[in-house]
Amino acid sequence: MLESPPEPVLAGPTEREWSAAVAAVLAQPRDAALLLICHVNPDGDALGSMLGFGQGLCRLGFTRVVCTFPGPPEVPEPFAALPGLELLVPEAQAPAEPALVLCFDAASESRLGGLRDRLDRSPSIVLDHHASNTRFGGVHLVDPTAAATSVVAEHLLARLGVPLDRDIAECLYVALATDTGSFKFDMTTPAVHELAARLLATGLAPAEIARRVFDTRPFGAVRLYGEALGRAQLDPTAAGGLGLVWTYATQADLARHGQRPYVLEGLIDAIRPAAEADVSCVIKQTGPAEWAVSLRSKGGVDVSRVAVALGGGGHRLAAGFTGRGTADEVAAAVRAQLATP
Ligand code: AMP
Ligand code: MN
Ligand code: MN
Repeated sequence: MLESPPEPVLAGPTEREWSAAVAAVLAQPRDAALLLICHVNPDGDALGSMLGFGQGLCRLGFTRVVCTFPGPPEVPEPFAALPGLELLVPEAQAPAEPALVLCFDAASESRLGGLRDRLDRSPSIVLDHHASNTRFGGVHLVDPTAAATSVVAEHLLARLGVPLDRDIAECLYVALATDTGSFKFDMTTPAVHELAARLLATGLAPAEIARRVFDTRPFGAVRLYGEALGRAQLDPTAAGGLGLVWTYATQADLARHGQRPYVLEGLIDAIRPAAEADVSCVIKQTGPAEWAVSLRSKGGVDVSRVAVALGGGGHRLAAGFTGRGTADEVAAAVRAQLATP
């Protein structure tokens, strides 16, 4: 049986939580092992906020800063030039009992794979922005009003007295740009643009970053998108008439086009424009009967409710879960949840 969803976190971190986080970092000797972790299949926010913060800890003089994430130690091509990647090690090489763990962009422990045990063994600080955050770990810096975890990370860096330099800024900027859909989504507040301005002022090249992160993919991926878009289905009656557009991509599709799974991250943005559907869904095969499911809403539906009901999480307008069965069965499960008021 699925657990009932946790109560949403309504406000950002308290002054007490910020102070506890600052104290927990500054109490460490400079040669203490500090482990930074982020969610499985890391996206721009997970990697960017973790690597940006990791470099900030180095600037404070910490000498044993290690970053990692669960699963295969492959950084998706769009993020392969991020500064700070030298801090990254495969999961198996992460210290078993670090002095302090900092966790980035993970709404629940289930997103941490084999690294979740570190949170039982060591003191921890959780930096996140998911309303569905389950409040695992030690000190909670969870701000559901933040557009990205990097907003929380930048705030903690400022409180620690770390000035932004170009390398830290590039990581935080990539995190902010990816999670706001290039400053298009509804969390794109004046404060987001003010932060972006401060990051850019360190000398970033936004056009070059955008080309690398958003606008470059192998030709095989272009052809694969063609296939996946060609079989997209529209169900105008779903979600009480608000409409659903969905498609899927299998591991065989990836193999046939010689592509790695990360290339499918943008597929949801390619089907989302369908005007007849408020909700879009992409079902990406990750195992024989296992799928990574992405959900987006244009505002009529809270897709985090759908994702949480199906064992996942996320935000009101962008959420996901792990689906089981065939792609059609996963789509049917989504439709059933969308039909539930
Ligand atoms: P994605 O569609 O992968 O870009 O994910 C959109 C949002 O849903 C992100 O904020 C993720 O944190 C969340 N999310 C995606 N997959 C899962 C999952 N399996 N469990 C919990 N949250 C998820
Ligand atoms: Mn993320
Ligand atoms: Mn995020």
